[in-house]
Amino acid sequence: MFAVGLTGGIGSGKSTVADLFAAHGVPLVDTDLIAHRITAPHGIAMPPIAAEFGEAFVAPDGSLDRARMRALVFSDDSARKRLEGITHPLIRAETEREQREAQGPYVIVVVPLLVESGTWKTRVNRVLTVDCSVETQISRVMSRNNFSREQVLAIIARQATREARLAAADDVIDNDNAPLDALTAQVDTLHRVYLSLAGA
Ligand code: ADP
Repeated sequence: MFAVGLTGGIGSGKSTVADLFAAHGVPLVDTDLIAHRITAPHGIAMPPIAAEFGEAFVAPDGSLDRARMRALVFSDDSARKRLEGITHPLIRAETEREQREAQGPYVIVVVPLLVESGTWKTRVNRVLTVDCSVETQISRVMSRNNFSREQVLAIIARQATREARLAAADDVIDNDNAPLDALTAQVDTLHRVYLSLAGA
């Protein structure tokens, strides 16, 4: 099925935009949700994680001990790579399965790190970037997550630059101070483009 990869930095408005496509009946595949599900209680990533890192990283309910794993991979790059070696192929496989099973004219695959993690671009037909200024990202995430300015800046520093995401995009949604009706209008226009590209 024709697939649109939806990306953007933290706080750019990916979830907001994804919901507007969903309102048109477009199925969503969300790689963040999948990443969370495979490490939820008895998720499919848990046996290989326990084998690689030890049972100490498994919480009593069978889910990933996120705080413990975060502390490890924060200070140990090789541990982060070992973890991603387990999770990334599983996330890819689950995403592909959901894409195959999706019912609709086309599918939106939400991939926050599409630009950062190389091969995603080849697995979608089109890349849609939600764009806004760094200042807008900072103020949104500070109020959404109750983070300090420094915390948001630290996250942004680990993500691709605004320029890199724009360079990777086939289509761009401008979500810098966009009122909801302006955002909706941009989604409506792109929805028509995608229906046509999908041959629907
Ligand atoms: P992302 O999924 O990219 O992290 P979200 O869609 O969650 O971003 O948006 C981040 C925050 O900003 C949310 O609280 C959302 O409600 C708000 N937001 C997004 N777009 C707009 C907008 N155009 N105007 C006002 N608030 C917005």
